[in-house]
Amino acid sequence: MCGIVGIVGASPVNQAIYDALTVLQHRGQDAAGIVTITEGMFKQRKANGLVRDVFEVKHMQRLRGNLGIGHVRYPTAGSSSAAEAQPFYVNSPFGLALAHNGNLTNAKELREEMAKRARRHINTTSDSEVLLNVLAHELDSIVEDELCEKQVFTAVSRVHKKIRGAYAVAALIIGQGMVAFRDPNGIRPLVLGKKTSDENPEKMEYMVASESVALDAVGFEFVRSVAPGEAVYVTEDGQLFTQQCAENAAHNPCIFEYVYFARPDSIIDKISVYGARVNMGTKLGEKIAREWDDLDIDVVIPIPETSCDTALQIAMHLDLPYRQGFVKNRYIGRTFIMPGQTQRRKSVRRKLNAIDVEFKGKNVLLVDDSIVRGTTSEQIIEMAREAGANKVYFASASPEIRFPNVYGIDMPSANELVAHGREVDEICQLIGADGLIFQDLEDLIVACRESNPEIQTFETSVFNGKYVTNDIDQDYLNYLDQLRNNDAKAVQAHEEVANLELHNEGS
Ligand code: AMP
Repeated sequence: MCGIVGIVGASPVNQAIYDALTVLQHRGQDAAGIVTITEGMFKQRKANGLVRDVFEVKHMQRLRGNLGIGHVRYPTAGSSSAAEAQPFYVNSPFGLALAHNGNLTNAKELREEMAKRARRHINTTSDSEVLLNVLAHELDSIVEDELCEKQVFTAVSRVHKKIRGAYAVAALIIGQGMVAFRDPNGIRPLVLGKKTSDENPEKMEYMVASESVALDAVGFEFVRSVAPGEAVYVTEDGQLFTQQCAENAAHNPCIFEYVYFARPDSIIDKISVYGARVNMGTKLGEKIAREWDDLDIDVVIPIPETSCDTALQIAMHLDLPYRQGFVKNRYIGRTFIMPGQTQRRKSVRRKLNAIDVEFKGKNVLLVDDSIVRGTTSEQIIEMAREAGANKVYFASASPEIRFPNVYGIDMPSANELVAHGREVDEICQLIGADGLIFQDLEDLIVACRESNPEIQTFETSVFNGKYVTNDIDQDYLNYLDQLRNNDAKAVQAHEEVANLELHNEGS
């Protein structure tokens, strides 16, 4: 998952984009980048690392201008090399820079088509660079002289027809403005905000971002979520245009945003992430009461932090004490972001520590938002036993994750998923729990839909294997598996180190 932000302001936007990226940091800790426009030129800084490490004062001083976009990356398709940090840039037409969250499912075909038909070379393995080139190609074929909003929207309509998958995009066009759009299924989130300029009260400033918390953080007022398939175009001088650019737009937001990815204080598609997590607790509490009434649970303990709201609600529902028995070290990254299973294993213990008194001699119910590979849960259960727990039960706020994700979440290989092809008893045994309970998918959907019943279907493929874009077959899953499996990551990492060494030798 990645985070994107774009602002057209009436004064410099570098600080606001930086601040917005820091509150979107949970969406990706692998790389960060900002591009601004000043005096008809792009200014850019991007590199691997956290926002606070990538941007130094000297970079911020160079990022001048009243228009800009930013990105935090979580690697999905493509490697995690610095060359693939975003935003990406092409020089024609006008000069374009683009930031993308999601994954294109036909990137391979598009890459070939771009090379053959448009003679456009794409220099990285990133699908986002492909997307940028498709947009550039479409704009190029439409614009004759001056660019107007109609042409921008025509280009986005054509892009929608060509590309498939999940995408939320913010792009800058030199001398023109910023365009942002969301895929026709609305899989990845995108919100629009506005604010009166502090410097010039006559002027309105506009911002788009992956999550509404980014607007809150920099003083923009939340306007609404960008609709699936819709495009937003803001000219350099601050005029806003919006248009639906997809013929068959549907609303199928990714349910995993509510389970895990988004910050609880965000509102996505009129659904409070916090509210959805509390509802997940009610639903799971009901299931535990229904199916596990013989269980002798003494205390409910969350695996911090995503599951805290859910676990508290379960405890309230079951009339049990809730205790924060694990302490999280806030100063290391999320474990799954680090590539490779070995690193992932090691980092769980570096990330969490148990408070023995909450475990000693007790039957504990541990609650997590999800079980993906099973490494975290296995180790946490072990830690609970080492801390003296008598029985260790485990509850997951989401159902069994059995299928790969093709829309931008790093769950690429079915074989890496502990629930793939396994029943609950087997998973329970593998992670070493005395009892394991998963949320039912219907309940998860009810929990999320409560505050926006207009949403009929969520993107839930990791739980049921139904891919809303209807273009996913076994060949594609195999291709993705190859591209992204742990071995491929290890080889890539090795190559990157080798490349680095070569560069160092030469310099
Ligand atoms: P594990 O089952 O060991 O892969 O770890 C699952 C934990 O990682 C859960 O606590 C989730 O909060 C978190 N998580 C969520 N999404 C992912 C993901 N895409 N890959 C790995 N872990 C994730």
